[in-house]
Amino acid sequence: MKRNTRLVRDGRGSDYATGMVNVPVYHASTIVFDSVAGLREAVRHRNERVLYYGRRGTPTQWALCDALAELEGGAGCMLYGSGLAAITGALMAFVEAGDHILMTDSVYEPTRTFCDLALRKLGVETTYYDPMIGSGIAELMRPETRLVFTESPGSLTFEIQDLPAIAAAARERGALVLNDNTCASPLNFRPLDHGADVVIHSLTKYVVGHSDAMLGAAIANEATLDRLRRGTFLHGHAAAPDDCYLALRGLRSLGPRMERHAQTALTLARWLKARPEVARVLHPALPDCPGHELWRRDFTGASSLFAVQLKEHPEAAVAAMLDGYEHFGIGFSYGGFESLVLPSNPAGARTATKWAAPLIRFHAGLEDPDDLIEDLEKGFERFAAAR
Ligand SMILES: *Cc1c(COP(=O)(O)O)cnc(C)c1O
Repeated sequence: MKRNTRLVRDGRGSDYATGMVNVPVYHASTIVFDSVAGLREAVRHRNERVLYYGRRGTPTQWALCDALAELEGGAGCMLYGSGLAAITGALMAFVEAGDHILMTDSVYEPTRTFCDLALRKLGVETTYYDPMIGSGIAELMRPETRLVFTESPGSLTFEIQDLPAIAAAARERGALVLNDNTCASPLNFRPLDHGADVVIHSLTKYVVGHSDAMLGAAIANEATLDRLRRGTFLHGHAAAPDDCYLALRGLRSLGPRMERHAQTALTLARWLKARPEVARVLHPALPDCPGHELWRRDFTGASSLFAVQLKEHPEAAVAAMLDGYEHFGIGFSYGGFESLVLPSNPAGARTATKWAAPLIRFHAGLEDPDDLIEDLEKGFERFAAAR
């Protein structure tokens, strides 16, 4: 089955939906058993898919897990209350005091903060590495290196990593590879096929797709699923059924939405690249993006995000440009139907590599591209007036 067909069908098994098109939203904490024997049976299988207690999931969560595991080609999936909780939950499932981990310097900043504050306090040491390191990662590995964390494209700076090369080096030394695949969406890249052991998504972004829920997932291969599941249950992670329903609903239209996001983003990126005010556009599908060749090799598409570096300008000019946009909201996150813009300065969140200039990140929404370009054009008029 091809991908849009899968997106329509996955997670709609008859055992969950009982004839309805969509899986019902089960609100549950207590599960009442018929007998003491029934309760004991559930306890025995509580790490498997039995109704045991609301925190361990109901068919609403299981349907979403099935769909995501299928999309990513994994053995199973765990859900979390946010994307960041999925990242910290997965990390905590695999590390212990005395371990060392390798973290890409392009990582989502709250992931970095978790390593620097929480993991450090627990006796887990983090070394940041150049996202473009490839097989050179081998030189940073120590006997106690437990895992290598990857994220591609980087959330602000868009480097594409050589995951197969990194995974081969990690595997040789017995380290696991985790990948935050949020930016690519589950449609444009399949990290498990390229050597990752666990792939993580902030479902908040493209999967929910409507800026109205927080949710995360980690999908594991056969070798790591049991450890991920036990670690996740141990920490009490749970995902709310209404939000799981929104994620399932989002999945049904993910294919056409991503196609539209991608088309519009590339149109805007190319238009911006031709502007005299622009020094550089970072978009994985454009040849000057670091790792563009790897993107061509490993990815099946682009998403909604790209960044622009402006030529020398006063800071007030950027504020004048962004404040007046009619269609680009100023805000965090991405993946919703509405366009967004975010001024950022990645320089402050780099330790292994240097980043020179501030960037403006755009999320291309589902609006008509002509209206968005007109908005950008008027923005440059304000930019010029404020210089
Ligand atoms: C947004 C994001 C997260 C965090 O997800 P939340 O659902 O906001 O907690 C993690 N990684 C990446 C790459 C993201 O873009």
